[in-house]
Amino acid sequence: MPLSRRNFIRTVAQFFAAFLIFITTPPGKGKSMPVFAPDKKGTPGKRKPQAPRRSEVAVEPCTSYDPDAVFDAVTRALGAIGFTASAGQRVLLKPNLIAQNTPDQATTTHPSVIGAVCRFFTEHGCRVSIGDSSAFYQGGGTAGAFVTAGIDAVAKRYGATLVPFETTRLRKITSGEYLNPFYVTEAVFEHDLVVNLPKLKLHRLARYTGAIKNMYGCVVGGSKQVYHKLFQHRPDYQEFWGKPLVDVYEAVTPGLTIMDAVVGLDRDGPAANGEPRHTGVLLASSNGPALDVACCNMIGFDLEWVPAVREAIHRGLVQADAVTVHGALPAVPYVRLPDVEVKEGIMRKIDDYVFDAFIMIPVVDRGACTRCDSCIESCAPKAISYDTEKLPVIDYGTCIRCYCCESYCPQGAISLHGGALNHVIRAARYILKL
Ligand code: SF4
Ligand code: SF4
Repeated sequence: MPLSRRNFIRTVAQFFAAFLIFITTPPGKGKSMPVFAPDKKGTPGKRKPQAPRRSEVAVEPCTSYDPDAVFDAVTRALGAIGFTASAGQRVLLKPNLIAQNTPDQATTTHPSVIGAVCRFFTEHGCRVSIGDSSAFYQGGGTAGAFVTAGIDAVAKRYGATLVPFETTRLRKITSGEYLNPFYVTEAVFEHDLVVNLPKLKLHRLARYTGAIKNMYGCVVGGSKQVYHKLFQHRPDYQEFWGKPLVDVYEAVTPGLTIMDAVVGLDRDGPAANGEPRHTGVLLASSNGPALDVACCNMIGFDLEWVPAVREAIHRGLVQADAVTVHGALPAVPYVRLPDVEVKEGIMRKIDDYVFDAFIMIPVVDRGACTRCDSCIESCAPKAISYDTEKLPVIDYGTCIRCYCCESYCPQGAISLHGGALNHVIRAARYILKL
């Protein structure tokens, strides 16, 4: 059976990890991971009860990314669920910007959909921002992904402000049931309305990624991977991971979700080794989990089989049999991925090594620092302090790898460094355009 690109990358990475473990010491190695760790046993914490939310979902046919056709479909969908915008609102659009992929790779929310939503809100007199935190295994991070995914051009066209979440302040969230505490971008709290713009995709770990999963992008920079690592050796990791996803979703619940399911990503998602699949609809709802219920029904996935959807139902965020669908929901069965294997023994050690070698860490250039205090004041988990020479030192046991300090520093004295394996994987992804 031929290797998929993802499996090829994984095989290459594991080979290099086994080789490099004897010859290199990556920067991340020996710099302990965050000690703020939540309860890894997954004991439920306290959670505020949620008010009941409307469970109406609009499904609108949309067979192409022609900008006018998409705008008409978005307008009809919002009309069907009775959504209205108010002039003067500050609106934050949160697309799926997983990596520096192009629109035809179907891993990122299509710029025509983002453009249509920009147009809708600007025509209603709103001020629009577009924000996300992309993968950092490619040079350029989120700012680079805005360009590659065609979002930079959309923002220019509609006068929207781009907000790479690494340039924002972070807020500490202590309401998570399973992931607690954790940090998310402050940007979602600085806007009157957050509009979630997920892309319909399959996901090797989450099985399906839609409204709930897309909001995990409010966790900034490498923190996303750090939080994964807290739980990834649990024997029930794949089933469990839906719980932290819903913890984050509840903290940053959007007011509106519009899903790009014109072309989804079938098979081996969520990155560019999946298979684009024409699906031909846009979905909209003020209740993201309700939209996920409708979408799972459309692609033939049992709600109980998708951990985040199952958890959302369990928490009462949606009542699956009380979702009202406006429009015709097509039946477009997607391919169910095999379960993720839990690593044991040497493979687990290699996995840990790969993580340490791969995740980047912020490093201070002490010669370039002007002791301006900015990074110290802005680091949300207080991982930076001055040493006896009044130069910043980073406590890597407290640092969550959000990478915000890199943008906070006006002197460019903080940069991100990865181990040797990081460079190997970056090069492979660059060549294979993953
Ligand atoms: S040191 Fe930098 S990367 Fe680490 S938590 Fe603070 S701001 Fe984030
Ligand atoms: S923000 Fe930059 S210049 Fe200011 S104290 Fe931190 S490292 Fe030094």
